[in-house]
Amino acid sequence: MERDEATLRIFVIPEEWGLKGVETVSMKQVHPLDARLREDDRESCESVRTGVRLRRTGGWGCPRVSSIIWAMKVSELGEFGLIGLLARIVPQGGPEHRMLLGIGDDAAAWQGDDSTVLATTDAMVEGVHFTGGTPWWQLGWKALAVNLSDIAAMGGVPTHALVNLSLPGDTEVEDVKQLYRGLADLAGRHQVAIVGGNITRAPLIMITVTVIGRGLVEGLLMRSRAVPGDLVAVTGYLGAAAAGLRALSEKIDVSPQAAAYLNKARLQPQPRIAEGQLMVKLGVRAAIDVSDGLLADLGHVCKASNVGATVRAEAVPVHPLVEGVFRNDARRLALTGGEDYELLFTASQRVMEEVRAALGAECPVTVIGEITHGTGVVLLGEDGKPYHIDGPGWDHFRKGG
Ligand SMILES: [Mg+2]
Repeated sequence: MERDEATLRIFVIPEEWGLKGVETVSMKQVHPLDARLREDDRESCESVRTGVRLRRTGGWGCPRVSSIIWAMKVSELGEFGLIGLLARIVPQGGPEHRMLLGIGDDAAAWQGDDSTVLATTDAMVEGVHFTGGTPWWQLGWKALAVNLSDIAAMGGVPTHALVNLSLPGDTEVEDVKQLYRGLADLAGRHQVAIVGGNITRAPLIMITVTVIGRGLVEGLLMRSRAVPGDLVAVTGYLGAAAAGLRALSEKIDVSPQAAAYLNKARLQPQPRIAEGQLMVKLGVRAAIDVSDGLLADLGHVCKASNVGATVRAEAVPVHPLVEGVFRNDARRLALTGGEDYELLFTASQRVMEEVRAALGAECPVTVIGEITHGTGVVLLGEDGKPYHIDGPGWDHFRKGG
């Protein structure tokens, strides 16, 4: 089999990222993780899948992470691989920064003089997160909501927000006012002050919000605190935001009642601020908000906690209106859809019962599985056997770009 060696690009994946192989080779025809350098022969490599052997051309020298990694496209490395790489470049803070949590949880946390400080930021980009024609008020609401949800996932109290807005020059002033009314309405609901930001001209609309908050004295919800034996539960219903997006893109005819529910789920998520705080007070220690999709987000918890999890597919809460429209596909949307902004958390049976009782009917809590000593998330069907489903969740560069 002939290969054009000019298409071969080498990069190095550190083993701690959990990817297969320490040194891998990318070429156009082979998935990056399917090829590796041979340990005994530093001058050649072979594809794991096809067995094709390739020789290095001259001038590459001995591979070092910093000198070689640039040869990858971000779409090959993926969002989480890229975060791992960049985290090695930036300073993480010394003792004077009193860091409690750096890169890798829903928000960064450090010890302030009076309380724990929380900080998070998230962007919404036209063409990636929303399309032209999305109502401006909802854009403002959602841009803040996704950040407040990250504070909720820490069990914290959001206090201040900064808004960084990029706009084309021909944007109507009235539209920008509507955007800010959406921001202001949600901020007012949670007593968040919008204290500044920046506006710049750009070819498309981009709204980046940064939220600062504080942790409760009882502690923080962290991705890294799930322990084997914990039950896994989720607030509310899952899959409605993804169902709304699909109904829109595929122009599916739905009832006015279903359309209203799906649109609200997609454009006007309700961050679970009070619920997150209540969880901390009742002794919950591990949580994440569902932004990438249930299975992907539970995977983040498992990885951070060095545990595994089982999820019973039929236990995952799907709203009847979503089930009514999407039937058999509703469960897949609930498991992988993303952008639900519900809280996924783990706790002992006793704590779980207390949380369920305290949240009441306003915010249903559904136990969907269990934390195990294993690794990764195992999805189980009704017969208790592994249940296959396509798509692990959202990775911005691999699936969205
Ligand atoms: Mg999050």
